[in-house]
Amino acid sequence: MEFRDLKAQYNKYKNEIDSAIQEVINNTNFIGGKEVNTLEQRLAEYVGVKHCISCANGTEAMTLLMMAWDIKEGDAVFVPDFTFFSTGEIVSFVGATPVFVDVDKDTFNIDTVKLEQAINKVLDEGKLTPKVVIPVDLFGLPADYIEIERIAKKYDIKVLEDAAQGFGGSINGKKACSFGDAATTSFFPAKPLGCYGDGGAIFTNDDELAELLNSLKVHGKGDNKYDNVRIGVNSRLDSIQAAVLNVKLTAFIEHELEDVNRVYRLYNEKLKGIVETPVIPESYVSSFAQYTIKLKSREERDALQTKLKENGIPSMVYYVKPMHKQSAWADSGFVESDFEATNELCDTVLSLPMHPYLSEYDINRVCEIISDMF
Ligand SMILES: *Cc1c(COP(=O)(O)O)cnc(C)c1O
Repeated sequence: MEFRDLKAQYNKYKNEIDSAIQEVINNTNFIGGKEVNTLEQRLAEYVGVKHCISCANGTEAMTLLMMAWDIKEGDAVFVPDFTFFSTGEIVSFVGATPVFVDVDKDTFNIDTVKLEQAINKVLDEGKLTPKVVIPVDLFGLPADYIEIERIAKKYDIKVLEDAAQGFGGSINGKKACSFGDAATTSFFPAKPLGCYGDGGAIFTNDDELAELLNSLKVHGKGDNKYDNVRIGVNSRLDSIQAAVLNVKLTAFIEHELEDVNRVYRLYNEKLKGIVETPVIPESYVSSFAQYTIKLKSREERDALQTKLKENGIPSMVYYVKPMHKQSAWADSGFVESDFEATNELCDTVLSLPMHPYLSEYDINRVCEIISDMF
C-alpha cells in the first residue's frame, strides 16, 4: 500500500500527461508560454481571485510576499507552532522574527485566542513591530479566517494564507487560497494538487501587489527581463510542470477532491470510537492533504505505527517536532507552557495512507489493524 499513490493517478491520466509534456518538448518552449498562462488563469478562476502568480515552489511563494511587503529585521510575523519548517523559515530568511503561536488541538490550526495574546505580548514588550500573520491550512483544513481577519484588522497586520496543503478546501463555499491579503500554495508532488517536481503559486486580489510579484520573481524586471528596476530573484514555474498541472487540475476538479472526502468519511465511520478522528467544523471542506488521527500517548502512537508497518501499511508522523524546538531557532527563549497543544500533538498524531485512489479494501485493512489493537 502506498501512503500517497501517485502511480495510480499517473496510470489513469498517462495519455493526457504524456502528450502534454511531449507538446512542451515539441515546441521547445520550456519557460513561460501558453501552458503557464493557461494554468494561472484557470487557478485564479477556480480559487475565485483576480491574480495567480506561479513560481518555483511554495517556500519561494511566501518569500516573495515577504519581499513585496518589505518585511525585515525588527518585524514580528506570527506563525503556528505546528507546521512544516518552511512557514517560519521564510520569516527568519528575510531577517524578521517568527513568533510561534500554539494551535487548536482539534483542528490543528492556529489558536486565535493565543494569536491575539501573542500580538499583545509583542506590543507590550515594544521590541518588535507586529506585521503579518501566516495561518496554515494544516492537512487541508482552512484555518479560522473569520476570526483571523478580525484580529488582523484590529491590529493592522497582514494575513498570508499558507495553503501549501490547503488547495481545494473551503469555508462556506469560499475557496482556500482566497483568504487574507494574499495566499500561497505548493505543487510539491505529494500536495493535494502536485506536479512532477517543484512548483508553487501566489494568489491575490491586489493589482499592485500582483504587478510587484511578477517583477520580483523575474530579477526585478521593469519593461522586460533586461530592464531591472529592483532586486528580485529567479522563481518561475517550468512549462513542463504547468502542462502536467493543467491535466491534474481537471482531475482534481472533476473527482479527486470528492474522492478524497469519500475516503475521509469511510475512515471516520470505521474508526469512530476507536481513536480520535479528524474534526472538520460545520461549513468547512478539507482537501485532506493528510488524514491524521490522535492516540493517547507517544507509546501508543509509536506501537500503532510499528504494527501498521509490520502489516505493510505506511504511516507518517506530521510533525515530530514543534517549530519552537527546531535547533535553527535554539536560544530564542521560548516558554514550553505557551505550546501545550503542539507539544501534545507531536507525541500523539499519526497520519494514515490518504489519496483519492485509495480503495475501500485498503481502507478496511488499515482500520482492521487499528481496531484489532484497541
Ligand atoms: C510543503 C509546505 C510548504 C513548502 O512548499 P514547497 O513547495 O515544498 O516549498 C510550506 N508550508 C507548508 C505548510 C507545507 O506543507
